[in-house]
Amino acid sequence: MPGLEAPLRTVVGGATARALAELELHTVGDLLRHYPRRYVQRGELTKLSDLEEGEHVTVYARIADVKTRKIRHNLTKTDVRITDDTESLTLTFFNQAWRGKQFDLGSKAFFAGKVGSFKGKLQLTHPEVHVVDEESGPTGDDFAGAILPIYPATSKVTTFTIQRSIRLVLDTLDIDDPLPAKLRLRLGLVGLKDALEGVHRPKGIADKDLARARLAFDEALVLQLTMAMRRAATAALPATPRIARPGGLLEAFDARLPFELTKGQRAVGEVLIEELALDHPMHRLLQGEVGSGKTVVALRAMLTVVDSGGQAALLAPTEVLAQQHFRSICAMLGPLALKGQLGGADDATTVTLLTGSMPQSARRKALLDAASGAAGIVIGTHALLQEHVQFADLGFVVVDEQHRFGVEQRDALRAKARDDRRPHVLVMTATPIPRTVAMTVYGDLEVSTLDELPKGRAPIKTFVAPVIEKPSWQERIWARVREEVAAGHQAYVVCPRIGGDEPDEPDEPLDDTDEPEEDAKRPPLAVLDVAPQLVEHELAGLRVEMLHGRMTPDAKDAVMRAFVAGEVDVLVATTVVEVGVDVPNATAMVILDADRFGISQLHQLRGRVGRGEAASLCLLVTETGPYAPARDRLAAVAATSDGFELSELDLEQRREGQILGEQQHGRSDLKVLSLRRDREVIERARTEAAALVADDPELRGYPVLAHEVQRLMATDKAEFLEKA
Ligand code: ADP
Ligand code: MG
Repeated sequence: MPGLEAPLRTVVGGATARALAELELHTVGDLLRHYPRRYVQRGELTKLSDLEEGEHVTVYARIADVKTRKIRHNLTKTDVRITDDTESLTLTFFNQAWRGKQFDLGSKAFFAGKVGSFKGKLQLTHPEVHVVDEESGPTGDDFAGAILPIYPATSKVTTFTIQRSIRLVLDTLDIDDPLPAKLRLRLGLVGLKDALEGVHRPKGIADKDLARARLAFDEALVLQLTMAMRRAATAALPATPRIARPGGLLEAFDARLPFELTKGQRAVGEVLIEELALDHPMHRLLQGEVGSGKTVVALRAMLTVVDSGGQAALLAPTEVLAQQHFRSICAMLGPLALKGQLGGADDATTVTLLTGSMPQSARRKALLDAASGAAGIVIGTHALLQEHVQFADLGFVVVDEQHRFGVEQRDALRAKARDDRRPHVLVMTATPIPRTVAMTVYGDLEVSTLDELPKGRAPIKTFVAPVIEKPSWQERIWARVREEVAAGHQAYVVCPRIGGDEPDEPDEPLDDTDEPEEDAKRPPLAVLDVAPQLVEHELAGLRVEMLHGRMTPDAKDAVMRAFVAGEVDVLVATTVVEVGVDVPNATAMVILDADRFGISQLHQLRGRVGRGEAASLCLLVTETGPYAPARDRLAAVAATSDGFELSELDLEQRREGQILGEQQHGRSDLKVLSLRRDREVIERARTEAAALVADDPELRGYPVLAHEVQRLMATDKAEFLEKA
């Protein structure tokens, strides 16, 4: 009576166990969770046109022709042609002339092997064969069911071996159902044993669907339990309450704000102020479209902390952004940031910038201000995380653009608080995250969303510019840029690459989806090539500058400053302008080779314009043809400016592994559950998990679930989920 932890060798024998180990299947549980890739319905032939070279496949096909030839005196070659009645495929056997008698023309059989090719045609060499007798039914138990599972296999372990092993295991299996019967009944889920039977030995389609529903729920539940337990653990940590002080900086700041806060900004602001006042740390994600005003919200929370005597730190992913935050926060605060300086307000604080590239003397001063408590707000990059950076009383950490920060980095900052207290943490992201991903990847954070833009923003008009089909666009693009500049505005031109002699690393790694589908005919356009060309020709007479990741921080900062000051008309840049750069006077963005970017990235880039009151324009320039897959992406981005809609679309186009971050072995813990399709399952699991943990914080009453959660937490997988 093996349990899930039993080694496979005890059930299937040493030789088979060794073979299965090749698939990383070591225990009974591993094997039972090696689910079929697909199913074959008895009698239904495999579509041979779908096969791809290099795949391990199992095909069910009709035998069309068998020919044996003598190639040399001791070598025969038997070619068996099989067909699905539209396409055909050749199987090759050497020195197995007896195959000629094995196969009756017109009969059907299963063949498993690796798809190779010979003289440009696909073929299987020495496949494993299981002949099916249509009258007496399939040969042997392997094919007893009407639906045959086909497993992910290797050359040494075929789907048939896996089927046999699983049957052995299922026949002797003795397991407890981790779900309480009451919950199972309420949710209409089948028992675990039935689910495993149904997925591996379905008697009909309904079986495998019911099985799938149960197994998907289990995966979602374990994940959500992990998140719920983490939330509970965070909620139990000690933190210093940071209580808003009437008549303090926050009130003074609100009084001098040149605009009215949106409803969302006010609502989220209230939540933050409430949570900062608790004696447990805040652990919250703030998401909102580019330009939705997250920084103001975060700044108001930081001022609350300063008002209560603590310090706040703002972490930005790049120097450009840290500097920009520093400038814009100082500007918004005005006299409130000039403590002890001429013109400073009575209540004023000090805002300090700390980055890796600052001159020694400035750095030393910044470090001192942080350590002495003189600085109320410290803004910086990763440099803030270094060990020697100390704070007098760090109460609040804001992390901008979360997706570039890992868990260790968050932890490093957290460890800078006093005693064993934890600072409150707010993570901001402008990358709209589909709900299922937010619940899974950021499931241990509470989530707030700013879903409206401040009033008075003119919408951005986006067009695809297919310069091959419509050469006239080529001129039109640059004419439009000139028009914007003539009207007193500024423009961005984005290229996928820096160029020059150095290796063509993009500034920021492109998403996996950004790989061009077609073989690239030429390397993507580069800043170092495009800028001089524009200066010479299309944009002659305009003030054009470059911005890319290979420039020194000083040079980058100088260019950004000049652009912000309106001293540069056109900025030719890589994706360094992607995140957070805020120049309201910029009204045009031209993205060259736009097909080289993913949906989310295009949307992010586009967010650099449309930040002021003037109408803005975004041109997605591409040399791809009308039927290139990339064109669908571009059309989608042009059709909507709703980041959440686009993020859902992006999700649909990705493989599951890319969403969660591929593990070392390229396997993900989610085998059945899909972040694309199973939104309802995930939501239900989240609700149930929260209820279970509230009721029984250590899951003492649910030993099997507790064990699974432990396993997930222990194997770092939870961490990799968080980091993705
Ligand atoms: P995000 O960080 O979400 O991209 P920011 O906080 O940088 O957005 O805000 C973008 C711009 O909008 C800034 O110039 C900011 O001053 C301005 N802004 C923020 N909130 C409002 C508001 N309620 N009304 C008008 N302008 C606003
Ligand atoms: Mg921002």
